[in-house]
Amino acid sequence: MAAMVLKNYLNGEWREAEATDHLPVENPSTGEVIAQVPLSTPAEVSRAVEAAHAAFATWGKTPVARRVSYLYKLNDILAREEEHIARTLVEEMGKSMVDARAEMKRIFENIEVACGMPVLQQGEKLIGASFDIDGEVIRLPMGVFGMIPPFNFPAMVPFWFLPYAIASGNTYVVKPSEQVPCTMQLIAEHIHSAGLPPGVFNLVNGDKTAANALMDHPWVRGISFVGSTAVCRQVAERCARNNKRFQAMGSAKNHLVVMPDARILDTVRNMCTSCFGCAGQRCMAASAIVCVGDETYRRVCEEFIAAAKAVKVGNPLDPALVNEPNAMGPVISAKAKQRILDLIETGIQEGATLALDGRGLVVPGCERGHFIGPTIFTDVKPGMKIHTTEIFGPVVVMMKVATVDEAIAIINSSEYGNGGSIYTQNGYYARKFKLEANVGMVGINVGIPAPVAYLPFGGMKASQWADIKAQGKAVVNFFTEDKIVTERYWQEE
Ligand code: NAD
Repeated sequence: MAAMVLKNYLNGEWREAEATDHLPVENPSTGEVIAQVPLSTPAEVSRAVEAAHAAFATWGKTPVARRVSYLYKLNDILAREEEHIARTLVEEMGKSMVDARAEMKRIFENIEVACGMPVLQQGEKLIGASFDIDGEVIRLPMGVFGMIPPFNFPAMVPFWFLPYAIASGNTYVVKPSEQVPCTMQLIAEHIHSAGLPPGVFNLVNGDKTAANALMDHPWVRGISFVGSTAVCRQVAERCARNNKRFQAMGSAKNHLVVMPDARILDTVRNMCTSCFGCAGQRCMAASAIVCVGDETYRRVCEEFIAAAKAVKVGNPLDPALVNEPNAMGPVISAKAKQRILDLIETGIQEGATLALDGRGLVVPGCERGHFIGPTIFTDVKPGMKIHTTEIFGPVVVMMKVATVDEAIAIINSSEYGNGGSIYTQNGYYARKFKLEANVGMVGINVGIPAPVAYLPFGGMKASQWADIKAQGKAVVNFFTEDKIVTERYWQEE
């Protein structure tokens, strides 16, 4: 059977893309082609922006309670369809079903937070800014916003922004990752069912040509980008040149520090989920473990390698794995797998010890899948390429230091600063780490310190371009423009 050709959703209607070029979308567990994604042209992107621009005229003036009423409906529909969406996500992305369901939960949470827009969007008023003069800050929607997500969270990442954008009165265009476009296609069908007025939400499939067209369109007021740091740089330059607001969240190399007093078995269990969940393809995945002290290093290496060997690698849709919290699927593509294998080879050349080798793993029945088993390097020295590079696969480097200061110095020497955690029962070390580690999201005995939707999400340094983070109260500032009013009325004669 021919794979389905995905469509674009413009102005409340599904339309076949005019694009003549398509890319196959592959199930990374089986290598089967499950869809063809059109590479939309700049003209098609422009039509989506025009639809969004036209819809803004009415949507921006629609009362905020009415705007969020669509989000309540959408949340109900998505909750009913959760399992189906999670399966679609797993089919094209390869993460475990347990991870996909957790991704769905974060969507619901973000929609719920955005439903608070009648409070979140309130401005400020100062009576008596001067004699008989009052000052007021009003927070207005701006127009059309665009979103360019990465492959690893095809459902959740757009929802760090989308519900806030439309609840605050803006209209929206999403260009999904061309590697995983099916999930957003399905979600867009549910957005349609929620009855959102035409043009408020639009979806255009494509690759960087479509992304750039979105960034270049004069009616687009701002862009939320999440992806690699190399592309963040380009997004930042392009949006600044075009006088657009932008958020750009980039790559990561997240460290976990284990102190001598850490509860080792709990720590190891927690670290294993962080390092190997989603096959190491989370921006919050830890990929470097720094142990303080010889004995901590010895014990953690031993226990961590044993725990990694127990990870169940396979097709996440295999009935034996669908409810398995310790399941790990493939990496996203043959290209990604080759890049990871090359980096493993680099680690060997650099002199690190390959203590657990995940290469050559074959999952029976999934011979064309892109699997790599958990891989662990010990005796890694700071500055080795396998330490400084975001490998974005199930590969962990382990290092030994003598003090917590050395551990923090290693973290602070990294180009990236997304997340980082310390395992300790000691408040002094925890506090020191919280204040001194240059990362945007800190964990204390929490290996994936990804904040809940009520709090902002975002890193530091090359992991975060521009000031405003995703989700929560903070992102409302991105989607609204302050107007400051100074007013006076003269007394009637
Ligand atoms: P990517 O940068 O290759 O692609 C991301 C998006 O940008 C895609 O939609 C793609 O079509 C588009 N794109 C690619 N090249 C472009 C270009 N030259 N110009 C304009 N658009 C372009 O990233 P990816 O491989 O899909 O995702 C993995 C990366 O995302 C990792 O580095 C990961 O750390 C990062 N990530 C970061 C966060 C965060 O919160 N900081 C969250 C998730 C993923």
